[in-house]
Amino acid sequence: MSKDKIVAIPNIPTPNKPVIFNPDICKGCNICVEVCQVDVYIPHPEKGKPPIILHPEECWYCGCCVNDCPRPGAIEFNWPLQQRGYWKNKTTGEVHQI
Ligand code: SF4
Ligand code: SF4
Repeated sequence: MSKDKIVAIPNIPTPNKPVIFNPDICKGCNICVEVCQVDVYIPHPEKGKPPIILHPEECWYCGCCVNDCPRPGAIEFNWPLQQRGYWKNKTTGEVHQI
Protein backbone atom coordinates (compact mmCIF):
# COMPACT_ATOMS: atom_id res chain seq x y z
CA MET A 1 0.00 0.00 0.00
CA SER A 2 1.48 3.38 -0.99
CA LYS A 3 1.86 6.14 1.57
CA ASP A 4 0.64 9.62 0.56
CA LYS A 5 3.37 12.22 0.41
CA ILE A 6 2.44 15.65 1.82
CA VAL A 7 4.26 18.63 0.36
CA ALA A 8 4.19 22.19 1.75
CA ILE A 9 5.82 24.91 -0.32
CA PRO A 10 6.45 28.32 1.28
CA ASN A 11 5.70 31.46 -0.70
CA ILE A 12 9.03 32.04 -2.44
CA PRO A 13 8.40 35.67 -3.62
CA THR A 14 7.94 36.90 -0.04
CA PRO A 15 10.51 35.06 2.04
CA ASN A 16 10.10 37.43 5.01
CA LYS A 17 9.83 36.23 8.59
CA PRO A 18 7.11 37.87 10.72
CA VAL A 19 8.48 36.12 13.80
CA ILE A 20 11.70 34.53 14.91
CA PHE A 21 11.68 31.29 16.87
CA ASN A 22 14.31 30.38 19.42
CA PRO A 23 14.71 26.61 18.92
CA ASP A 24 16.48 26.31 22.30
CA ILE A 25 13.35 27.52 24.13
CA CYS A 26 10.50 26.50 21.82
CA LYS A 27 9.26 22.99 22.50
CA GLY A 28 6.96 22.71 19.49
CA CYS A 29 3.70 22.70 21.47
CA ASN A 30 2.03 24.35 18.42
CA ILE A 31 -0.19 26.69 20.46
CA CYS A 32 0.96 29.48 18.14
CA VAL A 33 -0.13 27.40 15.16
CA GLU A 34 -3.58 26.94 16.67
CA VAL A 35 -4.20 30.57 17.64
CA CYS A 36 -3.14 32.14 14.35
CA GLN A 37 -6.40 33.04 12.58
CA VAL A 38 -4.81 33.24 9.15
CA ASP A 39 -2.76 30.03 9.24
CA VAL A 40 0.67 31.54 8.88
CA TYR A 41 2.27 28.41 10.39
CA ILE A 42 2.09 24.68 10.05
CA PRO A 43 3.43 22.25 12.67
CA HIS A 44 6.95 20.97 12.13
CA PRO A 45 6.92 17.33 10.98
CA GLU A 46 9.54 16.58 13.64
CA LYS A 47 8.00 16.60 17.12
CA GLY A 48 9.42 19.21 19.47
CA LYS A 49 10.68 21.59 16.78
CA PRO A 50 9.40 25.14 16.12
CA PRO A 51 6.55 25.43 13.59
CA ILE A 52 7.25 26.20 9.95
CA ILE A 53 6.37 29.69 8.70
CA LEU A 54 4.48 28.78 5.55
CA HIS A 55 2.59 31.98 4.65
CA PRO A 56 4.56 34.91 6.12
CA GLU A 57 2.86 37.45 3.86
CA GLU A 58 -0.49 36.67 5.53
CA CYS A 59 0.64 37.87 8.98
CA TRP A 60 -1.11 41.03 10.19
CA TYR A 61 0.94 41.27 13.42
CA CYS A 62 -2.05 40.79 15.70
CA GLY A 63 0.21 39.37 18.39
CA CYS A 64 -1.84 36.29 19.33
CA CYS A 65 0.94 33.80 18.65
CA VAL A 66 3.52 35.72 20.67
CA ASN A 67 1.12 36.51 23.52
CA ASP A 68 -0.21 32.96 23.88
CA CYS A 69 3.16 31.20 23.79
CA PRO A 70 3.68 29.59 27.21
CA ARG A 71 7.49 29.73 26.94
CA PRO A 72 8.90 33.27 27.23
CA GLY A 73 11.54 33.95 24.61
CA ALA A 74 10.50 31.09 22.32
CA ILE A 75 8.97 33.45 19.74
CA GLU A 76 9.38 37.14 19.08
CA PHE A 77 8.24 39.61 16.46
CA ASN A 78 10.44 40.53 13.56
CA TRP A 79 8.77 43.83 12.70
CA PRO A 80 9.03 45.14 9.14
CA LEU A 81 11.38 48.12 8.98
CA GLN A 82 8.59 50.62 8.30
CA GLN A 83 6.73 49.48 11.42
CA ARG A 84 9.63 49.63 13.84
CA GLY A 85 9.57 52.33 16.47
CA TYR A 86 12.62 54.33 17.42
CA TRP A 87 13.15 57.11 19.88
CA LYS A 88 16.12 59.17 20.90
CA ASN A 89 17.06 60.29 24.38
CA LYS A 90 17.57 64.06 24.03
CA THR A 91 19.98 64.18 26.94
CA THR A 92 22.26 61.28 26.08
CA GLY A 93 21.63 61.00 22.33
CA GLU A 94 21.09 57.27 22.79
CA VAL A 95 18.77 55.67 20.21
CA HIS A 96 16.35 52.99 21.39
CA GLN A 97 14.32 50.55 19.34
CA ILE A 98 11.10 48.70 20.18
S1 SF4 B 1 6.75 29.31 19.83
FE1 SF4 B 1 5.74 28.91 21.80
S2 SF4 B 1 3.61 28.43 21.29
FE2 SF4 B 1 4.82 28.20 19.41
S3 SF4 B 1 5.40 26.04 19.34
FE3 SF4 B 1 7.08 27.14 20.33
S4 SF4 B 1 6.66 26.99 22.52
FE4 SF4 B 1 4.74 26.48 21.46
S1 SF4 C 1 0.98 37.81 14.65
FE1 SF4 C 1 -1.15 37.10 14.37
S2 SF4 C 1 -1.38 36.83 12.16
FE2 SF4 C 1 0.81 36.96 12.57
S3 SF4 C 1 1.50 34.83 12.77
FE3 SF4 C 1 1.00 35.58 14.85
S4 SF4 C 1 -1.14 35.01 15.21
FE4 SF4 C 1 -0.75 34.85 12.99
